[in-house]
Amino acid sequence: MKKQSSHKYLITGGYGFIGSALIRELITNNNNTIINIDKLGYASNKNAIGSVRGNKNYHFYKGDICNDKIISNALKKHSPDFIIHLAAETHVDRSIDDPSGFVVSNILGTYNLLNSSLAYWRTLRKKQREKFKLVLVSTDEVFGSLKLKDKKSTENSLYKPNSPYSASKASADHLGRAWFRTYKLPIITTNTCNNYGPWQFPEKLIPLTILKCIQNKKIPVYGNGKQIRDWIYVDDHIRGLLKVITKGKIGDTYNIGSNNELRNIDVVKSICSILDEVYPKKKGKYSELIQYVSDRPGHDTRYAIDNNKITKLGWKPKYFWKESLKRTVIWYINIHVTQHIVVLLYKSGKIRE
Ligand code: NAD
Repeated sequence: MKKQSSHKYLITGGYGFIGSALIRELITNNNNTIINIDKLGYASNKNAIGSVRGNKNYHFYKGDICNDKIISNALKKHSPDFIIHLAAETHVDRSIDDPSGFVVSNILGTYNLLNSSLAYWRTLRKKQREKFKLVLVSTDEVFGSLKLKDKKSTENSLYKPNSPYSASKASADHLGRAWFRTYKLPIITTNTCNNYGPWQFPEKLIPLTILKCIQNKKIPVYGNGKQIRDWIYVDDHIRGLLKVITKGKIGDTYNIGSNNELRNIDVVKSICSILDEVYPKKKGKYSELIQYVSDRPGHDTRYAIDNNKITKLGWKPKYFWKESLKRTVIWYINIHVTQHIVVLLYKSGKIRE
């Protein structure tokens, strides 16, 4: 197989769900250099990149993207070819309870990253300046809620964010657009849909449902459960981001969607059926644990993005929902069982720190 050339990537939020999948891919399949800046918030998990932490091409800086010194120093020291900006506060419910952290990390943090990147980019020699790209990773939630009969959101759809989370991401996207238009900083923005896969923090629908089932606890489902989301396997999203870096047009935006629209309640029921098969309950079915709870305020009915534009770059989703969901469920069972055994061993004194 043709050896791909290696690059230096600065990744923000690399210990989060998507960032860690990106790092695993970039280090495992190529000899790339990774610089990861992450504040190690509640959703981070250092274990998610496994042995990569010991790789000589991996560099980690614990810090907040609102701190310009951390970013500027890392840029100066490592001179990356690309920046992929993933660091953000990401849970809608938390943004409703307290939007302040979302405004700080997602808006001010992005502003700070743009400014530091611009200063860095201006110092580069012609060849590296022409190679450099900054990818801002955003969400389909910025397009707001669609009705069932509405066409999917395209890259030209209006921004109509409804939650503090989506409003903060929309603000970040607008800043990126302005830094490209005004200062010519080479930025590409991507809007992706709901990702699923291993290592997602278990407050999001899929891991939350799996863990509630394994613990034999009630599975909370908002409202009538009929809200529709498009679900993409995280590795497809990663492939999309890398495609956009190599083939995308500077200043453009790309939807990375999977044409896989599902109602929340159907996602939950699919997980229950998989668990009935691979990890059966002693008595009854997992779907008996479903409990409808009061709806989230301002809960959007449907998100759906048109992915035609990125398919023209030669990308399309390759992971099928049913098997990828099953793989994800099995992954969470294994990690849960392993953790349980480790806890028991600690308690019994058979292993020590
Ligand atoms: P995550 O919550 O799992 O991880 C986010 C990471 O960013 C964490 O490790 C956290 O410590 C870090 N972080 C947050 N604020 C920071 C700050 N101020 N400074 C430094 N680090 C900070 O999120 P994720 O699911 O991996 O999402 C990554 C990106 O993708 C986000 O920008 C999110 O908006 C976007 N996105 C995610 C999804 C999804 O389904 N997960 C869908 C669309 C878009």
